[in-house]
Amino acid sequence: MDKLTSPRRIEQLLKKYDFRMVKRFGQNFLIDENIVLKIIKAAGITKEDTVLEIGPGIGTMTQYLCEQAGHVLSVEIDKKLIPILKETMKGHDNFTLVNEDIMKIDLNQYIGELPKDRFKVVANLPYYITTPIIMGLLEKDLPVESITVMIQKEVAERIAASPGGKDYGALTVACGFYTEPKISFIVPANVFMPRPKVDSAVVHMKVREAVSMGEKDKKLFFSVVKASFANRRKTLLNTLSTNLDYDKETIRKALNNAGIDEIRRGETLSMDEFKKLAEEFKKFEPQ
Ligand code: SAM
Repeated sequence: MDKLTSPRRIEQLLKKYDFRMVKRFGQNFLIDENIVLKIIKAAGITKEDTVLEIGPGIGTMTQYLCEQAGHVLSVEIDKKLIPILKETMKGHDNFTLVNEDIMKIDLNQYIGELPKDRFKVVANLPYYITTPIIMGLLEKDLPVESITVMIQKEVAERIAASPGGKDYGALTVACGFYTEPKISFIVPANVFMPRPKVDSAVVHMKVREAVSMGEKDKKLFFSVVKASFANRRKTLLNTLSTNLDYDKETIRKALNNAGIDEIRRGETLSMDEFKKLAEEFKKFEPQ
């Protein structure tokens, strides 16, 4: 296999194709084979799996994914990387390359053509859009089995946080609602070219089987979560009064019925308490 983790090989490729790294696309390429293998191991990829890779870059992780998965679909925004990928991925017939923006593409359009209609997401994500990518994958009701991604360490800590701390927020609750998140390992900045300013972490999120909540209830649940974290220093009663369309007395009643003290802060509520609270608000909604 072409050793794409070698900085010399990367430089040679970039020169050959007159390619310059684009900061605005979050291009930090992996130069440590060990980390690539650890990410794939954390994702638990087998020949039974179809993988969606976001941002293959020059194909460093893509090559290993093709070795281990049944099929790999990679979506890369930068058209200048396409000829490089055509060279580095030559000979891999279980590989589909799509030159698109992951935020704009309709993935369902490609899924039908793949050998398996459920897929695992594996990626070294561009850091400037980590959260919208993850939330997009979860909210669009796509057939995703798991998401294993390298992201900024700080965002990984927010995703996997427990109630009560500063990291716990709407992102934690959203990821915990759809998946079982865990930090697989921390990655130092020196395994990338160019080297980013922050450390990274790999998070593995196994998507929960069926999220048994209808669309309308889900909307209400997430509006309660968002409002609870909107003013973190305010009591729940106050932040919910400011950020939800119910009057203060209704909010007091809902909190009371859910058994939640109105002077608590949003960041202390567990997933079950958020669910209970949303259930109570639902009783005040017109049927
Ligand atoms: N996978 C490669 C690696 O590990 O060396 C590259 C990872 S680099 C952190 C992020 C990659 O995502 C880049 O190749 C970048 O061009 C691509 N990218 C950035 N924004 C994107 C988007 N909106 N849609 C698809 N790919 C994107």
